Amino acid sequence: MASIFMDNLGKVYTGGVRAVTGVNLDIADGEMIVLVGPSGCGKSTLLRMVAGLETISEGSLKIGDRVVNNLEPADRDIAMVFQNYALYPHMTVYNNLAYGLKNRGFAKSEIQRRVNEAAQMLEIGQFLDRKPRQLSGGQRQRVAMGRALVREPAAFLFDEPLSNLDAKLRVQMRVEIRQLQKRLGTTSLYVTHDQLEALTMADRLVVLNGGQIEQVGTPMELYSRP
Ligand code: ADP
Ligand code: ADP
Repeated sequence: MASIFMDNLGKVYTGGVRAVTGVNLDIADGEMIVLVGPSGCGKSTLLRMVAGLETISEGSLKIGDRVVNNLEPADRDIAMVFQNYALYPHMTVYNNLAYGLKNRGFAKSEIQRRVNEAAQMLEIGQFLDRKPRQLSGGQRQRVAMGRALVREPAAFLFDEPLSNLDAKLRVQMRVEIRQLQKRLGTTSLYVTHDQLEALTMADRLVVLNGGQIEQVGTPMELYSRP
């Protein structure tokens, strides 16, 4: 587990577009923060700065007790879950889950333990020999989640992970992801433009507007105001 500390974070893209300004946010151990706000408000820029996929122009970012501004994504102890499942089509589910661990030189027994544990949690154990095309959309999304789980990261970063699913599956998966996140107690930052998804999943919501934090609060705090 880890906390995430954002101290006056800002982003100016090459070319001069200012996407994020003066963001201060402490995410507690095990907390699920959902970032919401209109299209273009800077949600994905902020998430990608935490992930290390965008450089940080201003301010300081800590994950746990380390300043990670200049660390590569692989060194930040985070795992991302994307909407486009980013699964390898020619590999089995097992190998999709194992691939990153193999690359990082984990022992075979450790890989098996992590893959089997993740598969069990996500109830995809019976699909380990299948290829992604032989799975339903929901099953594929679980495999994508599994690829993040096997890393046993300090934090999960979710980038609109459910937006490719149909409405019914979205409702089901948001409950599953939330339960899993609580059970693991993994600090999470979750980006969505879906209000209901945000309300049902968040410990706290962060509303961004024009690259700045407009409001922060629990769903109760934000939606019971007059
Ligand atoms: P959101 O995820 O809330 O839709 P983004 O973080 O994608 O918002 O975008 C925030 C702002 O930054 C927008 O004005 C967008 O046009 C701009 N932006 C995003 N990516 C880039 C980029 N690679 N280069 C320049 N401007 C960008
Ligand atoms: P895999 O995507 O299967 O883990 P690699 O180990 O080749 O494959 O990963 C390529 C790079 O992407 C590495 O730097 C790795 O740490 C990073 N990476 C892979 N998966 C994730 C993820 N879910 N979240 C964040 N970084 C990831």
